[in-house]
Amino acid sequence: MVTSVLIVYAHQSSSSFNAAVKDVAVKELRSLGFKVTVSDLYAMGFKATATREDILAELKSPENFRYGEEMEEAWRAQTLSDDIKEEHKKVLEADLIIFQFPMYWFSVPAIMKGWFDRVLTGGFAFSLKNMYDNGIFKEKKAMLSFSTGASQSMFRPDGVNGDMNVALWPLQNGVLHFCGFQVLAPQIFWSPAHSPEAVRAAMLEAWGLRLKTLLSECPLCFASSILFDLSFQGKFSLRPDVKQELEAQDYGLTTGHHLGKPLPPDNQLCAPGGAHGHP
Ligand SMILES: Cc1cc2nc3c(=O)[nH]c(=O)nc-3n(C[C@H](O)[C@H](O)[C@H](O)COP(=O)(O)OP(=O)(O)OC[C@H]3O[C@@H](n4cnc5c(N)ncnc54)[C@H](O)[C@@H]3O)c2cc1C
Repeated sequence: MVTSVLIVYAHQSSSSFNAAVKDVAVKELRSLGFKVTVSDLYAMGFKATATREDILAELKSPENFRYGEEMEEAWRAQTLSDDIKEEHKKVLEADLIIFQFPMYWFSVPAIMKGWFDRVLTGGFAFSLKNMYDNGIFKEKKAMLSFSTGASQSMFRPDGVNGDMNVALWPLQNGVLHFCGFQVLAPQIFWSPAHSPEAVRAAMLEAWGLRLKTLLSECPLCFASSILFDLSFQGKFSLRPDVKQELEAQDYGLTTGHHLGKPLPPDNQLCAPGGAHGHP
């Protein structure tokens, strides 16, 4: 079966560095025989706001509109707006999703946040039963590929912006891993606008090389669901026996599950076993 890659791309300009990064990915992945689809969010005029217009039917509770609940209902009834249905099809077909964007405010541009809000619909992308490593998309891979304005040193634990691992936790754990995706190490293009031409060319070349073996990389490490008591009674927290066992460890479990200990170094930047987690 042909491997299918979806690139969700957010940049306004086709002459941007992000456009060049996206073009390298399209070319390289197609040359490997993969099917590549691009959701070019600005070009599509993708709607960023989560509103009532996303549902093409009567609401269950019009007087008390609850976006998440109504969306799940509409997903079941197949009454979601056409643009969301279209993205759902692309997600279902994809073995790997690459999110390509310039970092905005330590996160994704609003148009991509809108894609998360609207496309990762309850029922379709997650449920309380199906989350994290039991998540709906656990057979799929996803990754962030983005550029920064800041230099790498500014995003180190002693840098003025603080640790990039912390900045990436909400997106990589809270969005991607929450929906079950195996999250590949991020591809970060540090400060292309302040880099010489030769450095930018080298960044694009390194990306092209990484793409050749991207799908065989080990994903990032997250805490396994079996470590938690996933019940209301157990407060969805680490099991007491696991917590006790972890007391003796030098580092926290993950960037988020740090247990008041030092963060495991580069937990959100590298998979175990190498710069990009090659097995
Ligand atoms: C609202 C907002 C919030 C932001 N928040 C943050 C933040 O929180 N943290 C942070 O670090 N940064 C932040 N930034 C900065 C932003 O991340 C960078 O401006 C962005 O990542 C640069 O990427 P670009 O694709 O727009 O680069 P561009 O400016 O398009 O390109 C950079 C350089 O690459 C050149 N280039 C284009 N194509 C090629 C090619 N094929 N080969 C070689 N060179 C090429 C361009 O000519 C240019 O010289 C923010 C910016 C905005 C607007």
